[in-house]
Amino acid sequence: MIYNLGSINADFFYRMPRLPGPGETLAATAMSSGLGGKGANQSVAVARAGARVRHIGSVGSDGRWLVDQLAAAGADVAGIRISDLPTAHAIVMIDSAGENQIVIYPGANHDQCPEQIKAAFAEASPGDWLLLQNETSHQLEAAEMANGIGMCVAYSAAPFDADAVARLLPHLSLLIMNEVEAGQLTKALGKPVLHLPVANVLITKGAKGADWHDTRLLQTVSIPAFSVDPVDTTGAGDTFAGYAVAGLSQGMSPQGALRRAAAAAAISVTRPGTADAIPTLVEVEAFLA
Ligand code: ATP
Repeated sequence: MIYNLGSINADFFYRMPRLPGPGETLAATAMSSGLGGKGANQSVAVARAGARVRHIGSVGSDGRWLVDQLAAAGADVAGIRISDLPTAHAIVMIDSAGENQIVIYPGANHDQCPEQIKAAFAEASPGDWLLLQNETSHQLEAAEMANGIGMCVAYSAAPFDADAVARLLPHLSLLIMNEVEAGQLTKALGKPVLHLPVANVLITKGAKGADWHDTRLLQTVSIPAFSVDPVDTTGAGDTFAGYAVAGLSQGMSPQGALRRAAAAAAISVTRPGTADAIPTLVEVEAFLA
């Protein structure tokens, strides 16, 4: 079982003839809305990979439709509480050249509580996983509780904050970053990746693939990306992270789990959208066949 303490956002996308300037009012030519947030995206990826996931998070009373979407994707939503704060949302304006401007309101994403996390872990057992990203409150408390139960903890370190990573590092089995975040972390801590005090570090490198670092064996394994024609790379990292942790929790070898994650992420970049673009295991297996 994977427990994912993660953000839940309502994403609102507006097609714009161009991006508005300061003080300007401009009509959108089209709009759409849907489930988003790194946490929700990763829960969808875990569920589509065929692993069991309980999402722990918060929405306002205006966000029940997002909980329904998570449940429809196959996530257990028993760990989600209704907060007094408004649901987190992102307003994404995209111009005709694909350039964007984004406003994020974190709202209920910063309103988890320790009792909620403890209750969500009621049936957790050693060997289960806790998955974290940096868009909720109480990450450290959750990691400490998970360690106390003997769970493995994976942290997808985005949006990046070196201090948050440093605080969590002693509690992690797996740290997941993209190349830019890895560069920022090694600079901030003054240590190469293989000397970080965490058993495994996964660094994704876009179309260049990903590297799996085993700091105990001092070994790095590279996982190539699959060659595809990208349409929209948003959410590739969340697809990869969700599929990777799902595979590891299902007992796959790192190489096997990451090859499957790379295939899932490659399919996702050929489709528009984020959560909607995440493929099912059947689609990934067909791609790999
Ligand atoms: P995002 O923030 O957009 O979700 P990220 O920076 O966290 O992305 P990336 O390193 O860009 O994550 O991508 C994650 C994985 O997705 C890569 O390791 C790779 O396997 C796959 N991927 C990303 N871009 C491509 C691409 N253009 N072609 C094939 N695979 C890709």
